[in-house]
Amino acid sequence: MARIAYVNGRYLPFAAACVHVEDRGYQFSDGVYEVIAVRGGRLVDTELHYDRLWRSLGELAIDPARSRGALDLVLRETIRRNRLRDGIVYLQITRGVAKRDHAFPDGAQSSLVVTARRGGRPAAGSVERGIGIVLLPDLRWQRRDIKSVSLLPNVLAKQAAREQGAFETWLVDTNGFVTEGSSTNAWIVDDEGNLVTRQLENAILSGITRRVLRDLAESDGIKVIERPFSAEEAKSAAEAFITSTTSFVLPVVTIDGVAVGTGAPGPVTKKLCSLYAAHFSGRGRNAP
Ligand code: PMP
Repeated sequence: MARIAYVNGRYLPFAAACVHVEDRGYQFSDGVYEVIAVRGGRLVDTELHYDRLWRSLGELAIDPARSRGALDLVLRETIRRNRLRDGIVYLQITRGVAKRDHAFPDGAQSSLVVTARRGGRPAAGSVERGIGIVLLPDLRWQRRDIKSVSLLPNVLAKQAAREQGAFETWLVDTNGFVTEGSSTNAWIVDDEGNLVTRQLENAILSGITRRVLRDLAESDGIKVIERPFSAEEAKSAAEAFITSTTSFVLPVVTIDGVAVGTGAPGPVTKKLCSLYAAHFSGRGRNAP
């Protein structure tokens, strides 16, 4: 079936779904985005994604130009027109179309693009086998809490992982501490079985999967410690894993080619994978 995209008020076949050459998203990366999972035709953890989206827009003073309810209708209609049961929706809001000038334009109407597609799940076997990651310096700007479409350092970091046969890159700040992955949040498990992940601040994106997993873990009696951890600490951790909307919870079994723990997914991570899977399939807490 042909895919349909929403572009500024119209539902269009993919081949005709275009934005203007002077859209500020195209010229300046002046926009934000969200990726939301769809399961059984329904959006997962929607309110958390909308909260983050409205916060990102607010931080950049981009007018959403529509209510959450109106946006929700567009997302649902895009899912319906694509007959999507399981996959993801991608939505992007930019400051709109204006004559190229760095400062904010007067009176520009923000642009909204929505696409939907199947997939967006961990590859078969990756939860059981675990993944490898590599470490690279974090070259990004200092407002990583904003889910901006300005992703060039993230693109380069992900490509470096692929070229080294790894799944993800963990980015390391100038003090030697891991911030997060190129498109995922980073976690380790300490010797006491506690989860350690960097605290929310401008250095990382506030991942929705991070937030949901933290709550699921705590409800299950697993302690979550929010603090920076170093690349060295990660390499000698009992276990490590990543989280994101499309990766769910994925065990990390090597860092720069060094085995983490036993070199196989550990018991705490496996437990978290199943807690998140239950949440996602609607059998867990906070289910959609
Ligand atoms: N950090 C970065 C840099 C990301 O791009 C993402 C994915 N958007 C995440 C973390 C994970 O966020 P979420 O759980 O909301 O997908």
